[in-house]
Amino acid sequence: MAVFGSVHELVGGTPLVELHAFPIPEGVHLYAKCEYFNPGGSVKDRLGEHFIHEALTSGKLKPGGTIIEPTAGNTGIGIAVAAIGKGIHVIFCVPEKFSIEKQTLMRALGAEVVNTPTEEGMSGALAKARQLAEETYGSYCPNQFANPENPNAYYDTLGPEIWDDLNGRVDVFVAGAGTGGTFTGTAAFLKSKNPGIKTAVVEPVGSILNGGKPAAHRVEGIGMEFIPSFVKTKYFDAIHTVNDDDAFRRLKEAAAKEGLLIGSSSGAALHAALLEAEIAEPGSNIVVIFPDSSERYLSERIYD
Ligand code: PMP
Repeated sequence: MAVFGSVHELVGGTPLVELHAFPIPEGVHLYAKCEYFNPGGSVKDRLGEHFIHEALTSGKLKPGGTIIEPTAGNTGIGIAVAAIGKGIHVIFCVPEKFSIEKQTLMRALGAEVVNTPTEEGMSGALAKARQLAEETYGSYCPNQFANPENPNAYYDTLGPEIWDDLNGRVDVFVAGAGTGGTFTGTAAFLKSKNPGIKTAVVEPVGSILNGGKPAAHRVEGIGMEFIPSFVKTKYFDAIHTVNDDDAFRRLKEAAAKEGLLIGSSSGAALHAALLEAEIAEPGSNIVVIFPDSSERYLSERIYD
């Protein structure tokens, strides 16, 4: 298609790029699904379109209504893009610490941003969203941390795209988890096609999947303080817990060696994918998700 009808049609269909500059064993192939090619700049544009579509078709949200959501930023941008032209008000609850670029973009797209204290984490943002939803007539809070439509968004789109991109020749799938929606939905789709595919989840040090305690980390967008009920731990064939130094080193290398301007969650996922490459069978195809771009973190001096 040469002409797109609206921004909504630009979501999905992102490029899968083979990486060549990192030393990996002969015969192993590493491919990155570059989700920052979505119109709002991240993997979460898929979730925004899915949430708005589902909320409007089920009647949970009516034109003129208000959508309220806790977000680290990318879900907010994705929902705000998806709401464009649909007559919906948008309010996001965002912990203060998250990047100023993301908060600026949410406001540029017409959203109201309500900041919550950094110390209260995503749980504080969730509590604030719930409170505002109770106080606001005609509002709906999709709640990406509890809504099974979250993984469904990726089961329906990202999983099939990866499968088609490689004509089903996928051996290892690597993705980070914030809510776990991207990982769970995509892993579920790929396993439904071929249960032998290895699905490896990535978290920062300071997340709980490997038994660690919640703690601060510089990597943004991944890391869990609790495990949402839609997350299927049976898909954790491997859990990679990546420290900030490795994630930021990989992010810099991806820019300098591959020309890929990726954010820190992508850097962490790349580090994990390179560890998977070390132990992969010859001939394996590894797919790693790059959720967003470095450009929305430049104020955090990520390349210094
Ligand atoms: N990376 C970035 C930059 C993100 O914003 C998010 C979403 N918070 C993720 C990864 C993880 O996505 P998910 O919530 O689907 O696990």
